[in-house]
Amino acid sequence: MADYDVIVIGAGLGGLTAGALLARQGRRTLVLEQGKNIGGCCSTYERAGYRFDVGATILEILRPFELAFEKLGTSFEKEVELEPCDPVYGIIFEDGSRLTYPSSIEAKAEIISRISPEDGKAWLEYARYVGDFMRTAVEGFFLSPVNTMSDMARVILKDPHLLKFLPLFNRSFEEVMRGYFKDERVLDSLSYPGKFCGQPPALAPGIFAFLSYAEHEGVFFPRGGMIALPEAMRRCGERFGMELRLGQRVEKVLVGGRRARGVVLADGTEITAPVIVSNINAKTLYLEKIGEEHLPWLARYGIKSYRLSASAPMINVGLDYRPPLEAHHNIVTVSMEKSNAYWFGDMQRGLLPKEPYALVCFPTFSDASMAPEGRHVLNIVMTGPYHVSELDWDRDKKAYGERQLEKLSEKAIPGLADHVEVMDVLTPRDYERWLLTPEGAILGLDMDVPSSAVFRPASRSKSIKGLYLAGASTHPGGGLPSVVASGIIASDLIQHYE
Ligand SMILES: Cc1cc2nc3c(=O)[nH]c(=O)nc-3n(C[C@H](O)[C@H](O)[C@H](O)COP(=O)(O)OP(=O)(O)OC[C@H]3O[C@@H](n4cnc5c(N)ncnc54)[C@H](O)[C@@H]3O)c2cc1C
Repeated sequence: MADYDVIVIGAGLGGLTAGALLARQGRRTLVLEQGKNIGGCCSTYERAGYRFDVGATILEILRPFELAFEKLGTSFEKEVELEPCDPVYGIIFEDGSRLTYPSSIEAKAEIISRISPEDGKAWLEYARYVGDFMRTAVEGFFLSPVNTMSDMARVILKDPHLLKFLPLFNRSFEEVMRGYFKDERVLDSLSYPGKFCGQPPALAPGIFAFLSYAEHEGVFFPRGGMIALPEAMRRCGERFGMELRLGQRVEKVLVGGRRARGVVLADGTEITAPVIVSNINAKTLYLEKIGEEHLPWLARYGIKSYRLSASAPMINVGLDYRPPLEAHHNIVTVSMEKSNAYWFGDMQRGLLPKEPYALVCFPTFSDASMAPEGRHVLNIVMTGPYHVSELDWDRDKKAYGERQLEKLSEKAIPGLADHVEVMDVLTPRDYERWLLTPEGAILGLDMDVPSSAVFRPASRSKSIKGLYLAGASTHPGGGLPSVVASGIIASDLIQHYE
């Protein structure tokens, strides 16, 4: 008899969702995490009384969370205390001017109309169309397995309404946005969320246009930090007997006769189970943990062809003043043109952006418990590749952080550099070292159309029986709602097939 019914490799949010749901199905489930903490890129740590998030800072599109907790016999509301973030964004333009967007779609239309009446009307039209797409896609596509072409066909036949949105699939994010909006300032203010798929506006798929709308269905901050999400998942899993072991790195997946049979840990211990759920990067899984010798040639070729997603350095600061920002989430923006030019030019040469281009999250705007009394926290997510030629991420990270804070002080957040009590720079190398995320890829694999849905590594492996994937590198991709959806999909498939 096998040691467990299921082994989950990795306690990221996707892995914990799958683990908790499988335990709920009555399976003896073991989750193995190499790190000291759970949550992976959705976590929180404490330093000098400040609480800093490790990666994800924005929580929106709650439906997958609601569904997962319903399946666990509870509710999202009961398990996690959420603070709504309204305004949804503060925008800081290149010239230092600012705009604050409220949660209300109509109130935002009024603000946009003051810049361009035509774009104000277009915003309402856009919100109707992409809002409809988002709701249809989340229910029909996001939460359904799309392992095969027949799965894809089933998703569309279940809701043929999806076909109405085809124009979003064959255009870029920039083309979709320019189709609606004409004023460059309005475009600059709406284009940052396209970056959440790790690509510039000219390359990001048009379907991600819904991201510039998604926050209007609600953006939230889990009280106490992003760790509250994986903690809730772990708590629920443990109620059903899920076992979690920290500090246990999986070195190999045991495979015999094209079937997963268990895992080997770094210390050589073997643990057996007929079902393995991988929450780690799919390239690492197939090429290192399983090994090419166990893969058919097409799978070998296929897995090597995926590109890793972009990385993002993050600067966490504890401040002894209240930074002059008007929202929990703030975008220091540049034009779409500059964002594209950086991607195709300097970035390919391993250079960092010359201007600050960042998502600045201000957790103490919503939750004072994130810092000692009278102090504040910012998490600054920058743009920057893993391979840089102008510095060494390990050697120069302090200097990099200080330079970025100076630039942000000059352009966007006066006084910032003078009020830092604590600064931590988390580089792509750090993510790679701490979470074993290759090249610090924040979304696992690229999120372009050829790496999405039926083209992404399948939730139920086509090469190895008993192997399932949950997390950023399988459908529906990276980002918190997606990895929770992937955990639901993996556990449903296991229930169906095993
Ligand atoms: C800087 C940054 C900002 C982001 N911002 C946002 C945001 O605002 N909103 C949003 O929705 N998303 C955001 N994301 C993306 C989001 O955080 C991730 O897509 C998501 O958390 C990934 O979850 P996952 O389940 O795939 O697992 P991961 O978080 O990748 O966790 C995988 C786990 O597996 C463990 N592991 C790895 N190898 C092994 C092994 N061999 N043995 C055992 N354990 C192993 C790791 O230690 C880790 O704990 C951001 C990511 C980053 C890095």
